[in-house]
Amino acid sequence: MERIALENGFSMHDYRSKLKLLKDGGDQRVLENRDGVGCPACGQAFDRLFVSERSTKSFETPPDRPFCLARTDEKILLLTH
Ligand SMILES: [Zn+2]
Repeated sequence: MERIALENGFSMHDYRSKLKLLKDGGDQRVLENRDGVGCPACGQAFDRLFVSERSTKSFETPPDRPFCLARTDEKILLLTH
């Protein structure tokens, strides 16, 4: 299974055919995993990927499923399973 690699940062364009852009907020995006791509943290296929270039983020509703966090120099990633 292909897993998201973070060694050189994260660009959704590297996974263009596998991740579908659901929400685009400019510096914050939500992507849907369409091809069983593996999570950079645990290796399991994830469901949704939230990516932000902001330094902080608040979520108003608690997660209803397991999630993983990963970061690059510029971005934070939250992956739900
Ligand atoms: Zn994970």
